[in-house]
Formats: sequence, structure tokens, C-alpha cells
Amino acid sequence: MTHTDFIPYGRQSISEADIAAVVKSLRSDFLTQGPCVSEFENAVATKVGASYGVAANSATSALHLACLALGVGTGDRVWTSPNTFIASANCARYCGASVDFVDIDPRTYNMCANKLAQKLQAAKLTDTLPKVVIPVHFAGQSCDMAAIYALSKAYGFRIIEDASHAIGATYQGGQVGNGKYSDICVFSFHPVKIITTAEGGMAVTNNEQLAKHMRTHASQGTTKSPDELTQQPGDWYYEQHTLGFNYRMTELQAALGLAQLSHLDDFIERRHQQFEHYKTLLKNFPITLPYQSEDNYSSLHLYPILLPEHNKSARKGVFDVLRHAGIGAQVHYIPVHSQPYYKQLGFNDGDFPVAEDYYARTLSLPLFTDLTYAQQERVALILKHALIANRVMRA
Ligand SMILES: *Cc1c(COP(=O)(O)O)cnc(C)c1O
Repeated sequence: MTHTDFIPYGRQSISEADIAAVVKSLRSDFLTQGPCVSEFENAVATKVGASYGVAANSATSALHLACLALGVGTGDRVWTSPNTFIASANCARYCGASVDFVDIDPRTYNMCANKLAQKLQAAKLTDTLPKVVIPVHFAGQSCDMAAIYALSKAYGFRIIEDASHAIGATYQGGQVGNGKYSDICVFSFHPVKIITTAEGGMAVTNNEQLAKHMRTHASQGTTKSPDELTQQPGDWYYEQHTLGFNYRMTELQAALGLAQLSHLDDFIERRHQQFEHYKTLLKNFPITLPYQSEDNYSSLHLYPILLPEHNKSARKGVFDVLRHAGIGAQVHYIPVHSQPYYKQLGFNDGDFPVAEDYYARTLSLPLFTDLTYAQQERVALILKHALIANRVMRA
């Protein structure tokens, strides 16, 4: 098997125009802190219907900035989904807050709004309500944000959407990121995500103060805004007002991001075609295909399939057959609370049974913009062999 035969679960799609945009940026006066970053921030904000965009060197950094802007600190509680990448929880730990999780809906694999309601009711009685809840739009499908937002009003918490998978998605006809149901929404531009800047992320918000806070903290806690300076001795002058970080995105990344953003709608349309093709190819397989709720247009970051309950133990065997045949299947996600780091903070196996059961049975098949129908057909063929070899399916 040659290297090029390997089909990863996700990867970037880079055009000659994208490459030209980065080269142009390399030849320009600014490699960082130039015009491309703010142009990219404005373009993303406009695209998703938000007032402000704050670019960062990763979505992880953007999530940290978002928590800081909402005042998350020691003694605070932040709740998120166990079915996510660890960064959705780690951002609260960076701020010294404690993390807890809300189990998932067995159909969408997103944080379950009913379970959130129950957990809030219980937390109110013990005076342990969260300051911030971070719903994660798993695989690009929005959580039930109207319900989560209503709960935020009833219980007084703030909302950061982890939309790392979901740029370009819509929920109830509105763009994910428009801020209708959250304070801040974060996108990732890692190469496996919908569009890429290599590493990179962005927080969008409609709140000027939050945007300003995040921007300041992404750049060492400094400002050059004349209205914020305590003195103005000259043009060299800046002031540090708080302890920040260097979380800035470079001009090269922003130039790539701008070029990628122009492909966003096409990329997602392509993913929907692939989604339909899998539906046809896999329709007689004894597996659960990803569910799409009617009020969503998902950006389809992932294609997670589910093995039957009684074939749980076959997952590793199926995975191994796929991998040996050059299909880069992956598992999204190992429940965050079952990581040794979180177990040492007090979590146990069995704490979030729906997420754990889902994890035991899931596999993500390749899904990315440049995946061909022929490659999907190869995935389906090898998956069939893998299911037969592991007695999930009859020959
Ligand atoms: C990828 C991802 C992140 C982190 O994104 P980076 O840009 O790699 O920091 C956070 N949350 C979720 C759900 C992700 O999938």
C-alpha cells in the first residue's frame, strides 16, 4: 500500500488560489499584526452574522479568551459536553474553574438540553450553579440552542458555543455564530475542520466589551487605543493593563483563512453530497448512520457511525480492519471525563453513561472536501468486509 492510498478521516482542501494568497502575504510588509488579520476577522464575523471577530492562534486559545472575558475564575463552575475534544473543558481549567459535564442526547450526540435542565435544578438546590455553559456543536450540527438559551435566562449562566466543527452551519434558519443564543461563539481552523488556517481559531460576539477584552488578552494585555491610555507621550507608546498572552494569528494564516472562507459554502455543499452518497452506500448495513435534525443545516465535519448495542465489543476489530486497509477511521470522542487528568479531579467511569455507550460503539468514517465518490465506495466496501469479519453483518 502506498502512502497516497491512505484515506484519512479528515483533511484540508487547498487550492492554487489559497497558495497564491499565502505567498502574496509572505511578500508583503507584514507577516503578523498587519491588515489581513482584521480583514479576516471582519469577513468571518460578517459571514456568520456577528458584530465582532477576534482571531487567535487556535480555537483552544479563543476558548480560553472567551472564558476570561466572561470572568471565569477560581471557584467558578463551567459545564460542557463529555463528547468533545478536551479543549472544550480545558479552557475553564486554565482559568482555575472547576469543570462538570452534561450527558448527551442519544440521537444527536450533542449536550442534552433536558439533562441540562435536570442538572441545573439540582445544582440550584446545592448552590452550585455554573457560571458558563459551553455547548459543543458536535460534527457540525448545532445543539438545541433555543432551549439552552432559555435555561441560561432561568438560571443566570452565560453561554460560549464551541462551534469548532460548525462554521457555515445554520440553526433554525440563523447562522451559527450570530449570537442569538450565546455570548461568544468559537470556531477552529485546524486542518481537519471545515476551513483551515493551519492552526487558528476565532471568537465572534455581538458584545463590544467582550470583543475588546478578548483582543487585549490575545496580545499581552496591552492596548494602543488612544481612549484607553493613561498618557500619550508619543507614537511608540502602548500600555499593559492586564496580564495577557500572545495568542495572535499571523498574517499568513489570515491570508489563507480569507481565501478558504471564499470556499466555505462550496465545501459544505460538497460534504452534503458525500453525506448522501454514504447514505446510499451504507443503507443496508446494520449500523446507525448520523442523524440530522430538521432545524439544522450541519457543516458535516464528521461522519460518525454507530455499531449495534449487542456488537459493542466489535468496534476495535472493525477499526483495525479499516486501518489495515488504509482507511483512516477515527473515534470521536473519548469522553473527556474518562481522561486520566479528569479522573484525578474526581470523575469516574459511569458518570455520563450515554456518552460512554456512544463512545464504545462509534467510529468516524472519512469525510472531507476532496474525498471522491470512488474513495467513499472503497470505504463502504472495506467497512462491509470489516463488519462481516467481526460478525456484525452476515456475508
Ligand atoms: C478542534 C477542536 C477544538 C480545538 O481547536 P484547535 O484550533 O485545535 O485549538 C476545540 N473544540 C472542539 C470541539 C474541537 O473539535
